[in-house]
Amino acid sequence: MAIRRLSEEVINRIAAGEVVERPASVAKELIENAIDAGARRIDVTTAGGGIALLRVTDDGGGMTRPDLELAVERHATSKLVDDLLDIRTLGFRGEALASIGAVARLAIATRHAAEPHGWTIAVEGGAASPVRPAALGSGTRVEVADLFFAVPARLKFLKGARAEASAITEVVRRLALAHPEVRFSLAGSDRSALDFPAATGPDALLVRLAQVLGEDFVDNALSIEAVREGVRLSGHAGLPTYHRANGLQQYLFVNGRPVRDKLLLGAIRGAYADVMARDRHPVAVLSIALDPHQVDVNVHPAKADVRFRDAGLVRGLVVGAIREAIARAGHRATSTGGG
Ligand code: ADP
Ligand code: MG
Repeated sequence: MAIRRLSEEVINRIAAGEVVERPASVAKELIENAIDAGARRIDVTTAGGGIALLRVTDDGGGMTRPDLELAVERHATSKLVDDLLDIRTLGFRGEALASIGAVARLAIATRHAAEPHGWTIAVEGGAASPVRPAALGSGTRVEVADLFFAVPARLKFLKGARAEASAITEVVRRLALAHPEVRFSLAGSDRSALDFPAATGPDALLVRLAQVLGEDFVDNALSIEAVREGVRLSGHAGLPTYHRANGLQQYLFVNGRPVRDKLLLGAIRGAYADVMARDRHPVAVLSIALDPHQVDVNVHPAKADVRFRDAGLVRGLVVGAIREAIARAGHRATSTGGG
């Protein structure tokens, strides 16, 4: 058979499959865009597990008309980095909106301070409408309807509205933990309502931790702080007596980006190995801040994996800091006569 080039449309659908796995991945991309746009308030609305409808409204900087036209094209981004090892925004691939537009009905309304009014564009199964004026106060509203209508095979792999809705809830909680200064809400017919008012000041993280994980966690958590060779670890880890049957409540962030990193999860497990039963899991919220050159975030389109340049250093830092905090707490408990 002769070799032919794939059409742009097919290329986009193939690429979309990597970025947009399920409604929760759409939620993640849209919320990350709102955070990158400097939003202080992000409202998420869903219906039908985010398959029928997923809407994210923000009060960030918005887009100018030419930017809105480019935003839905592939490989178009305002976060352009010449150096893929110097990424300081959550997005950088310029693929999310194009991918979503390739597999769903996407509508964006946005208003930039430099524009006299807002603009809107619609993309359905990869085809973009002309930009039209829109009435909008400020910020951006992105609406995704009928997810995967253009690739029905994908729909079969989804877990049903209830499971998809709870995955979206997880995404909101995760990003909310990384950004206490932003107000997050989740509403809609999926009955998975959340509302996390903005937290500011020196206790912002503790306030957000209580909102997302409960006062209970805050009361049973150890403060973790450690720095080694420019890598800064901070956060909170539960006391050995505070545990869960699964490891889903371990929240990890690298330079503000939520990650599910095997190395870090393994480090947490290692830190508790001697003080917690094997079938129990600690609750932890840990952030690592380091020079962007010391970590590669461009491992997978979903951007949830990272590669540390010095994995041993990071692992040692996490294990050491948690163990030390546990030891200190134990020492305090015995020295204040807790026996
Ligand atoms: P990336 O985030 O990797 O740049 P996206 O496809 O997610 O790629 O978005 C493309 C561009 O659209 C962004 O670089 C940004 O300029 C613009 N954009 C997307 N969402 C928003 C938003 N909520 N507010 C302002 N600009 C946005
Ligand atoms: Mg993005």
